[in-house]
Amino acid sequence: MSEKKLPLSPDEMAKLAYSKETPFHLYDEKGIRENARAFNKAFSWIHEFKNYYAVKACPNPAILQIMKEEGFGADCSSYPELLLAQKVGITGEDIMFTSNDTPSSEFIAAKKMNAVINLDDITHIETLYKSAGMPELISFRYNPGPERTGNAIIGNPIEAKYGVRTDQLVECYVKAKALGATRFALHTMVASNELDGSYIVETARMLFTQALRIYEETGIIIEFVNLGGGIGIPYRPSEQAMDFDMVSSGIKNIYEEMIKGTALDPLRIVFECGRMASGPFGYLVSKVLHVTSKYKEYVGLDASMANLMRPALYGSYHHITVVNKEDEEADHLYDVTGSLCENNDKFAIDRALPEVEIGDVVVIHDTGAHGHSMGFNYNSKLRSAEYLLKEDKSVQLIRRAETIDDLFATLNY
Ligand SMILES: *Cc1c(COP(=O)(O)O)cnc(C)c1O
Repeated sequence: MSEKKLPLSPDEMAKLAYSKETPFHLYDEKGIRENARAFNKAFSWIHEFKNYYAVKACPNPAILQIMKEEGFGADCSSYPELLLAQKVGITGEDIMFTSNDTPSSEFIAAKKMNAVINLDDITHIETLYKSAGMPELISFRYNPGPERTGNAIIGNPIEAKYGVRTDQLVECYVKAKALGATRFALHTMVASNELDGSYIVETARMLFTQALRIYEETGIIIEFVNLGGGIGIPYRPSEQAMDFDMVSSGIKNIYEEMIKGTALDPLRIVFECGRMASGPFGYLVSKVLHVTSKYKEYVGLDASMANLMRPALYGSYHHITVVNKEDEEADHLYDVTGSLCENNDKFAIDRALPEVEIGDVVVIHDTGAHGHSMGFNYNSKLRSAEYLLKEDKSVQLIRRAETIDDLFATLNY
């Protein structure tokens, strides 16, 4: 069980919602910091442990600054994400550049920044070499294909567009070495929103196996393995957060069994988690515009799937709190909707809530990853503001809401 709490008292939350234009995303700095510290502590036995925060989860410099202060690097997937990392002083090998279908211009930019370039494809060795030259340190993204089963969000590895096949892997390192690379890393990303810690432990075993195989076949020493992201969060109250200590000790056992005392020891182990680092600490704050009855009962919010696409895109559950009604019985079944001309613009279907009234403040939980960042402008909706709830409880605007002028700025008329 995970308790779905708000970072403010109900009265404070209601007051905040009424002092700002809603909807907005609110991020809880204290929660982010405490979680990052717990994560680093759990894995502190690992030589130069690092989580590269996946910038796409919440690409806001104020959030990246906090991640940096907690010792995280940045995992970037595009040139603008590289620039965001650079803006807060995350530089060089504290950046992993993990992209796919990558334009040459982005390889050039990543190389110039001395970011760790993580190639998604065997053909990208040529592309990178010809456009930017081979960097000293190169990483490859491994796709195990039929050897692993994926999970719902990321899908089955053999269907995935990502990574190099098992039979291509050794060739990749040999080629990169021939073109001048002298340092090597191995990456994978086979899980998304996974709550079962043993899956992460098995991913470590998989990468250790490949790193040893690469060494045996070529003498090439993998300097670090990147287990990717994919640590899930308990979106549902019935779910349990992943136990970092359990995952850590599971990985440690396998490390001691497989790597300790070999040429690869000390092998660095890193992650590039985004969701678990910011997801649970974001809240979409909205107000109720309409309550009505059709063939079902509806609550219409001033937020829409343009602010949070996950329920519409993946059928994801996001917990909903009706502020100041936490103790009332959830004896009404509602579809909670936004205003887009899309019938899947629903935050929840058949959700049991207390009786909702116009003007109620409704908070949608766990929007700190792939919330605002997945937002869009369909129906000419303006993207909302983002606020940071600081440790001293003050609230800082870290991204203003879009205006109509912003929306029209790219038009030629
Ligand atoms: C999205 C992504 C991540 C982060 O995944 P989370 O589920 O947010 O931890 C890490 N690496 C790559 C390559 C990704 O695409």
